[in-house]
Amino acid sequence: MDRRGDKGWVEVICGPMFSGKSEELIRRITRYQIARVPGQTFKPVIDDRYATDQVVSHSSLSVSAEPVADSDILLRSVKDRTEVIGIDEAQFFDDGLVEVVAQLAATGKKVIVAGLDLDYLGRPFEPIPTLVTHAEYVLKSLAVCHRCGGAGMYTQRVIASDQLVVLGAEGAYEARCRYCYDPSEGQQEQLEV
Ligand code: ADP
Ligand code: MG
Ligand code: ZN
Repeated sequence: MDRRGDKGWVEVICGPMFSGKSEELIRRITRYQIARVPGQTFKPVIDDRYATDQVVSHSSLSVSAEPVADSDILLRSVKDRTEVIGIDEAQFFDDGLVEVVAQLAATGKKVIVAGLDLDYLGRPFEPIPTLVTHAEYVLKSLAVCHRCGGAGMYTQRVIASDQLVVLGAEGAYEARCRYCYDPSEGQQEQLEV
C-alpha cells in the first residue's frame, strides 16, 4: 500500500562538542545534493560563530544554510518541493521544534537533526532528548576525550561562566569522557577569580 508521506522520517545525530555532529550532517546532506534531491538546511540565528549562511564543522567542511529565529519560522521557510531538511545546533531551538519536525516527517520529508544532547553541566539539553524518542534513526557520536583520549561523551566548560550558552568561544570547551568530566571545574575557577 502506498501511503501519502511514507517517505518521511527523522534522523537525529547527537553527542558532545567536537564529536563530528556537523561533519556527519554535512556528509548526509551532501549525498542528497549529489543525488539532486531538493533540500534545505537550517540553523538557529544564535549560532553566528562562522559564516551565517553556512553550517561549518570544526574540520572546515561546510554546506549552505538558512539562519532562522525559531521553529515556527523554520516550518514556514520549508518549500513544498523540499524533500530533505537538515537542522544543525538544534539544541538552540525552542521546544516547538519537536512538533515541527514531526509535522515535516509526516508530510513525507526526511529530517536530519544534529545537536548537543547534554549541556555543559551534564543535564539533558532539550529539545534533543525528546527528538531522540521520536526519531527512526539515532546516532550518538562521541568525541576524543581531550584529557585522556577515551570516549568523549560530555562537553566540559573550561572557562569560568554561569551562562548556559557561551558560544564556541575558542578554548572555552573540551570533550571529556565520564572519568575526566567534572562540571564543577569551571565553577571552581570562578571562585578563585
Ligand atoms: P561537532 O559538530 O560535534 O561539534 P564537528 O563536526 O564540527 O563537531 O567537528 C568534528 C571534527 O573536530 C573532527 O573531525 C576533528 O577534526 C575535530 N576535533 C577537534 N577536537 C576533537 C576531539 N576532541 N574529538 C574529536 N574530534 C575533534
Ligand atoms: Mg556542530
Ligand atoms: Zn578522559
